[in-house]
Amino acid sequence: MNHFQDAKRVVFKVGTSTLTHDTGKLNLRRMRDLSRVLSDLKNAGREVVLVSSGAIAVGVHKLNLEKRPHDIGGRQACAAVGQCELMYIYDKLFSEYGHVTAQVLLTRDCVDDRIRNMNIQNAFERLMGMGALPIVNENDTVAVEEIVFGDNDTLSAIVAKVVNADALIILTDIDGLHEQNPRTNPDAKLIHVVEKVTQHTRDIAGGTGSSRGTGGMITKIEAADIATNAGIVTAIIDGSDPDDIYRLFDGEPIGTVFLARRGN
Ligand code: GLU
Repeated sequence: MNHFQDAKRVVFKVGTSTLTHDTGKLNLRRMRDLSRVLSDLKNAGREVVLVSSGAIAVGVHKLNLEKRPHDIGGRQACAAVGQCELMYIYDKLFSEYGHVTAQVLLTRDCVDDRIRNMNIQNAFERLMGMGALPIVNENDTVAVEEIVFGDNDTLSAIVAKVVNADALIILTDIDGLHEQNPRTNPDAKLIHVVEKVTQHTRDIAGGTGSSRGTGGMITKIEAADIATNAGIVTAIIDGSDPDDIYRLFDGEPIGTVFLARRGN
């Protein structure tokens, strides 16, 4: 069964490890491929929202720092620098394919407050109504402990709910959820479909992610849980070949699909 073919409004999430090389510099080929595929989906009549990480990593590199700062101020500064660079590149790439980008930076308090949440919904609706492609990130420069989402996986699920998306697709550096840890066990079996996120799902997702991003598989599972409980079908797929997005929409068995829960 193809769960994605009819999805009109789709939120994509791309993580730092997918957007950058091991050097910490932007992976421009991948960004170009991703921008091309998302542009094409828009051309075909879908509405696209992109939740993109990468601001801090790009800032770290641009400021010539040896590593990601541990203090909040350092991360805020890196995010401020990196977010500009990130949007500059996205804007350039999407413009080449004839699309207008829009930067949306959110903090948790924006979505927790009912009135502000409605204002955000309106902003997204107007942007998409005008044909723009919203690119969302956490507002890391002003986000302090009490108001952080913490990771963009969670943010992507919340954005999917706010915009009333039909599907959420999380692009990462692994091809989905496995029965065992695929980084230590090359025979680990990929799980194609998860009907419901359970404690067992969380247990097998344990462990951490890459050194350049924030989340790991567990935050993606939590994101899938939030989205599917809101009736939004979710997929975790390998972002290294953005053309896989076409295959997913064509109904091929790509990544791990989390089925939407009805009647919530
Ligand atoms: N918002 C962070 C950034 O742009 C990324 C958070 C995450 O990796 O989940 O650098």
